[in-house]
Amino acid sequence: MAKTPEKIKDVIREARKYAKHFRVTDGKKFRLEDYDPGDTLDVAEEKPRAKEILAAGVAALAELQGMLYAQDRWSVLLIFQAMDAAGKDGAIKHVMSGINPQGCQVFSFKAPTSEDMDHDFMWRCLKCLPERGRIGIFNRSYYEEALVVRVHEQLLRKSKVPPELITKNIWKERFQDIRAIERYLSRNGVLIRKFYLNLSKKEQKRRFLERFDTPEKNWKVSPSDVKERAYWNEYMHAYEDLIRETSTKESPWYVIPADNKWFTRVMVAAAVIEGLSTLDLEYPKLDAIQLKELAATRAELVGKS
Ligand code: ATP
Ligand code: MG
Repeated sequence: MAKTPEKIKDVIREARKYAKHFRVTDGKKFRLEDYDPGDTLDVAEEKPRAKEILAAGVAALAELQGMLYAQDRWSVLLIFQAMDAAGKDGAIKHVMSGINPQGCQVFSFKAPTSEDMDHDFMWRCLKCLPERGRIGIFNRSYYEEALVVRVHEQLLRKSKVPPELITKNIWKERFQDIRAIERYLSRNGVLIRKFYLNLSKKEQKRRFLERFDTPEKNWKVSPSDVKERAYWNEYMHAYEDLIRETSTKESPWYVIPADNKWFTRVMVAAAVIEGLSTLDLEYPKLDAIQLKELAATRAELVGKS
């Protein structure tokens, strides 16, 4: 267990080394085809140790979160996007497993309700931003508004956006607005890290078939997920454009290989640790006056029965 600060420093060093492979901070030259969903870097032989590595990562994360909470200055927003069956839920569950539930919240964004549609496209997500000291997780997000809504443009026409605002520039405008909001949040102390779990079409088919063929997984079968595969190329184009347009230094995307779940989880943990390590977190230190008060209160406690 990574309990001692030295051990955490080791984990942070490793995490930085791995996370940088998948981080996109400047999308201009980004091409999805440069990222292999089956990549396991040089750690393929580590697979049997994946659980151990993840446990060390989770322990380091728990320690960093403890400091984040105590310091109560920064907040952390983790955004997860992916095609179906890429393992968003599993990654969130495993990576956050050691974290104090009081310091962490998960929100899932599915098809918008009529109340959601009565507002601007980011409204429902912005209501759920993490408070200072907390980690907030978005399982899908406002990015769907430039993914599913872009692939199925009839969703846009069905929405209540005034028709004259729906022009050929709408996606560029949405990206511009997302960049502006994310910059604003960063400047207010929200650390943003975004994850695209990069699953191959072939592996998605394998996972879907497993859902049909395993009784305990039958409940996960969704005919619409299977139909959505027909739009695979359109989704890939939308993801590529989105990552190009919304990767920035303060709000990077991580394109995490998702064909091997053990690797996905370790790399998500690495990227979150790397992000937290940039915040120079530490437990709040008391000043001389506060220390004097502390000593006096302690003495009082000792003196009483
Ligand atoms: P899982 O299938 O693993 O439970 P999920 O995230 O795919 O997780 P679903 O219940 O399938 O959850 O619901 C998500 C669906 O909602 C996705 O198909 C997604 O594209 C859709 N969705 C999310 N945001 C929007 C949006 N703004 N407009 C339209 N559809 C959306
Ligand atoms: Mg789904």
